[in-house]
Amino acid sequence: MKIITHSPSETIKTAEKIGALLRAGDMIAYKGGLGAGKTTFTRGLAIGMGLGDSVTSPTFALVNEYRGDRITLYHFDMYRISSEEDLESTGFYDYPFEDNVAAVEWSENISDFLPEETIFVTINCVGENDREIIIEDGGRFAAAWD
Ligand code: ADP
Ligand code: MG
Repeated sequence: MKIITHSPSETIKTAEKIGALLRAGDMIAYKGGLGAGKTTFTRGLAIGMGLGDSVTSPTFALVNEYRGDRITLYHFDMYRISSEEDLESTGFYDYPFEDNVAAVEWSENISDFLPEETIFVTINCVGENDREIIIEDGGRFAAAWD
Protein backbone atom coordinates (compact mmCIF):
# COMPACT_ATOMS: atom_id res chain seq x y z
CA MET A 1 0.00 0.00 0.00
CA LYS A 2 1.26 3.45 -0.86
CA ILE A 3 0.15 6.83 0.43
CA ILE A 4 1.35 10.41 0.13
CA THR A 5 1.34 12.71 3.15
CA HIS A 6 1.72 16.49 3.01
CA SER A 7 2.74 17.31 6.59
CA PRO A 8 4.29 15.67 9.65
CA SER A 9 0.87 15.54 11.31
CA GLU A 10 -0.56 13.62 8.33
CA THR A 11 2.29 11.13 8.64
CA ILE A 12 1.56 10.79 12.35
CA LYS A 13 -2.16 10.24 11.66
CA THR A 14 -1.34 7.54 9.12
CA ALA A 15 1.03 5.80 11.52
CA GLU A 16 -1.52 6.01 14.33
CA LYS A 17 -3.90 3.87 12.31
CA ILE A 18 -1.17 1.27 11.83
CA GLY A 19 -0.13 1.45 15.47
CA ALA A 20 -3.66 0.63 16.58
CA LEU A 21 -3.47 -2.60 14.56
CA LEU A 22 -0.04 -3.76 15.76
CA ARG A 23 0.32 -6.83 17.95
CA ALA A 24 2.96 -8.72 19.87
CA GLY A 25 5.75 -9.94 17.64
CA ASP A 26 5.45 -7.25 14.97
CA MET A 27 8.68 -5.84 13.56
CA ILE A 28 8.55 -2.60 11.58
CA ALA A 29 11.66 -1.96 9.47
CA TYR A 30 12.13 1.47 7.92
CA LYS A 31 13.89 2.26 4.71
CA GLY A 32 14.59 5.90 3.93
CA GLY A 33 17.30 8.47 4.53
CA LEU A 34 17.93 11.17 7.08
CA GLY A 35 14.92 13.44 7.56
CA ALA A 36 12.57 11.13 5.65
CA GLY A 37 10.20 10.89 8.59
CA LYS A 38 11.00 7.59 10.29
CA THR A 39 10.99 9.02 13.79
CA THR A 40 7.85 11.03 13.01
CA PHE A 41 6.13 7.86 11.80
CA THR A 42 7.22 6.04 14.97
CA ARG A 43 5.66 8.82 17.06
CA GLY A 44 2.37 7.99 15.34
CA LEU A 45 2.83 4.27 15.97
CA ALA A 46 3.31 4.92 19.69
CA ILE A 47 0.20 7.11 19.84
CA GLY A 48 -1.80 4.44 18.02
CA MET A 49 -0.53 1.83 20.48
CA GLY A 50 -1.69 3.99 23.38
CA LEU A 51 1.85 4.75 24.54
CA GLY A 52 1.71 8.54 24.38
CA ASP A 53 3.38 11.10 22.13
CA SER A 54 6.86 11.28 23.65
CA VAL A 55 8.84 9.51 20.90
CA THR A 56 12.20 11.11 20.17
CA SER A 57 15.13 10.03 18.01
CA PRO A 58 17.11 7.16 19.56
CA THR A 59 20.23 8.02 17.55
CA PHE A 60 22.49 8.40 20.55
CA ALA A 61 20.73 5.86 22.74
CA LEU A 62 20.47 3.26 19.93
CA VAL A 63 17.17 2.14 21.42
CA ASN A 64 14.33 3.89 23.23
CA GLU A 65 11.64 1.92 25.02
CA TYR A 66 8.02 2.96 25.40
CA ARG A 67 6.32 0.72 27.91
CA GLY A 68 2.66 -0.11 27.81
CA ASP A 69 0.59 -2.22 30.17
CA ARG A 70 1.02 -5.28 27.98
CA ILE A 71 3.26 -4.37 25.07
CA THR A 72 6.46 -2.34 24.89
CA LEU A 73 7.59 -0.54 21.74
CA TYR A 74 11.34 -0.81 21.10
CA HIS A 75 12.51 1.97 18.80
CA PHE A 76 15.95 1.24 17.37
CA ASP A 77 18.33 3.38 15.34
CA MET A 78 20.83 1.20 13.46
CA TYR A 79 22.62 4.06 11.73
CA ARG A 80 25.97 3.13 13.22
CA ILE A 81 25.63 -0.63 12.90
CA SER A 82 27.70 -2.13 10.10
CA SER A 83 28.47 -5.70 11.13
CA GLU A 84 26.96 -8.64 12.94
CA GLU A 85 29.43 -8.00 15.79
CA ASP A 86 28.16 -4.43 16.10
CA LEU A 87 24.61 -5.71 16.25
CA GLU A 88 25.40 -8.35 18.82
CA SER A 89 27.16 -5.78 21.02
CA THR A 90 23.91 -3.78 21.18
CA GLY A 91 22.15 -6.74 22.79
CA PHE A 92 19.68 -6.81 19.88
CA TYR A 93 19.33 -10.59 20.05
CA ASP A 94 18.30 -10.48 23.72
CA TYR A 95 15.18 -8.36 23.31
CA PRO A 96 11.85 -10.19 23.78
CA PHE A 97 10.55 -9.34 20.32
CA GLU A 98 7.91 -12.11 20.32
CA ASP A 99 6.02 -10.40 23.14
CA ASN A 100 6.45 -6.80 22.02
CA VAL A 101 6.71 -4.52 18.99
CA ALA A 102 9.91 -3.16 17.43
CA ALA A 103 10.42 -0.29 14.99
CA VAL A 104 13.88 -0.11 13.41
CA GLU A 105 15.39 2.93 11.69
CA TRP A 106 18.21 2.26 9.20
CA SER A 107 17.02 -1.33 8.95
CA GLU A 108 19.09 -1.54 5.74
CA ASN A 109 22.07 -2.05 8.06
CA ILE A 110 20.61 -5.20 9.63
CA SER A 111 18.63 -6.57 6.69
CA ASP A 112 20.10 -10.07 7.10
CA PHE A 113 18.81 -10.29 10.67
CA LEU A 114 15.19 -9.28 10.22
CA PRO A 115 12.43 -11.88 10.60
CA GLU A 116 10.63 -13.14 7.53
CA GLU A 117 7.34 -11.45 8.50
CA THR A 118 8.95 -8.02 8.86
CA ILE A 119 6.69 -5.12 7.90
CA PHE A 120 8.75 -2.79 5.70
CA VAL A 121 7.90 0.91 5.71
CA THR A 122 9.71 2.92 3.04
CA ILE A 123 9.53 6.71 3.28
CA ASN A 124 10.62 8.80 0.31
CA CYS A 125 10.93 12.56 0.37
CA VAL A 126 9.01 13.81 -2.70
CA GLY A 127 8.73 17.49 -1.77
CA GLU A 128 9.60 19.75 1.14
CA ASN A 129 6.60 18.54 3.13
CA ASP A 130 5.52 15.64 0.96
CA ARG A 131 6.38 12.04 1.73
CA GLU A 132 5.58 8.88 -0.19
CA ILE A 133 5.06 6.08 2.32
CA ILE A 134 5.06 2.49 1.10
CA ILE A 135 3.93 -0.15 3.57
CA GLU A 136 4.62 -3.80 2.77
CA ASP A 137 2.16 -5.42 5.12
CA GLY A 138 0.85 -8.39 3.16
CA GLY A 139 -2.63 -6.84 3.35
CA ARG A 140 -2.76 -6.79 7.14
CA PHE A 141 -3.64 -3.14 7.51
CA ALA A 142 -6.23 -2.91 4.75
CA ALA A 143 -8.84 -2.03 7.38
CA ALA A 144 -6.94 1.16 8.18
CA TRP A 145 -7.69 2.61 4.74
CA ASP A 146 -11.42 1.86 4.36
P1 ADP B 1 14.10 10.53 10.21
O1 ADP B 1 13.82 9.82 11.52
O2 ADP B 1 13.71 9.71 9.01
O3 ADP B 1 15.50 11.04 10.11
P2 ADP B 1 12.41 12.62 11.28
O4 ADP B 1 11.05 12.05 11.51
O5 ADP B 1 13.29 12.80 12.48
O6 ADP B 1 13.15 11.80 10.13
O7 ADP B 1 12.30 14.05 10.59
C1 ADP B 1 11.47 14.29 9.50
C2 ADP B 1 11.55 15.76 9.18
O8 ADP B 1 10.80 16.05 8.00
C3 ADP B 1 10.97 16.60 10.31
O9 ADP B 1 11.73 17.79 10.40
C4 ADP B 1 9.56 16.89 9.82
O10 ADP B 1 9.05 18.08 10.33
C5 ADP B 1 9.80 17.00 8.30
N1 ADP B 1 8.61 16.69 7.50
C6 ADP B 1 8.09 17.51 6.54
N2 ADP B 1 7.04 16.96 5.93
C7 ADP B 1 6.87 15.74 6.52
C8 ADP B 1 5.92 14.70 6.30
N3 ADP B 1 4.95 14.77 5.36
N4 ADP B 1 6.02 13.61 7.07
C9 ADP B 1 7.01 13.50 7.99
N5 ADP B 1 7.93 14.44 8.23
C10 ADP B 1 7.87 15.57 7.50
MG1 MG C 1 15.09 9.25 13.04
